Amino acid sequence: MKITPISGYGVKGPACFLIETAGRRLLLDLGEGPEPGVKPEISHLGQVDAVLISHSHKDHVGSLDLLSAIGSPPVYATAAVKALQPHPALACAHPLALRGETTILGLTVETGRASHAPGGVWIRIGGADGVLYSGDWTAESILYPLDRMPQSRYFICDVAYGIYDTPLSECFEKLLATAKRNRTILPMPPEGRGLETAIALSENGVAVSLCPTHRRVGRLLVDEFPEALDLRGRERLATMLAQAGTTEDGWFGDGAVIAAGATAESGTARLFVEKHLNDQDVRIVFTGHVAGQGLAAGLIASGRAEQFRWNVHPRLRDVKSMLDIVRPEHFIPVFLPESKIADLLLELGR
Ligand SMILES: [Zn+2]
Repeated sequence: MKITPISGYGVKGPACFLIETAGRRLLLDLGEGPEPGVKPEISHLGQVDAVLISHSHKDHVGSLDLLSAIGSPPVYATAAVKALQPHPALACAHPLALRGETTILGLTVETGRASHAPGGVWIRIGGADGVLYSGDWTAESILYPLDRMPQSRYFICDVAYGIYDTPLSECFEKLLATAKRNRTILPMPPEGRGLETAIALSENGVAVSLCPTHRRVGRLLVDEFPEALDLRGRERLATMLAQAGTTEDGWFGDGAVIAAGATAESGTARLFVEKHLNDQDVRIVFTGHVAGQGLAAGLIASGRAEQFRWNVHPRLRDVKSMLDIVRPEHFIPVFLPESKIADLLLELGR
């Protein structure tokens, strides 16, 4: 088995890994970003036999428009990812099990839910002697389940947070305090932490309004993809959807609004931010990765917006626990800048 990180190793960049095994060439993810326009260099790759998608986020699917450069191979994705990600290349994607086995070109591919995003999976190819790709994962989701990852010789593991080890509960305390004091705009990715944040705030006494995109995704998950949610998560999501307020044209009531568009560059979040930019009693809070240049970074730098992390990747302690389970001979830490890898490996004793 040969593993070549095309992109995603030594950098918080687009996911793309080439796996060559049993005479087949498979690509795991074909992303763009997080910085806009950053794509993997695949023009030299030649013919690829299939592309497997871990989850619907842009840094994992955003370069599917480059498929013709690698011989237009078939794409495999879970049904929920197909439903959530409108990328045209996914419209005719072949099915990938949410958990279980899928035979792809004669190879057995095992998958399980990776907890980071609805319909997102970890992927193992070649059994215990093969490679496990975590995709993006977290151990702290209150909505999306994490199926136990299997033992594997090679482990391509999302360690985007490096040695960061603060529990989500602590991050949430700060967010909750702000949302209780002020009306708050929360730009969020609807296929991810947006719905989780809405549940947590709502359960802690904050009036929550949902933008139409978040409401549509929430309904879709409850009605059509309950297996993408854990049992308790489905109940909590259904309750929150029933209680949450609606929004109109960038206006919302008391409390917090969960608006689609994690960096407010686009989507309904942009509309809310523009409408309330000069409204000093409305706070704007970003909770994820913010590009070096752009609207969100500017608002944070000027003090107009705040940034509190909502964990969607593993903390140091989660990576440690996972290594005890997967027990890889070869550990390939990904989505972390090269300058931070040595510190992480030291902490992990590798
Ligand atoms: Zn992701």
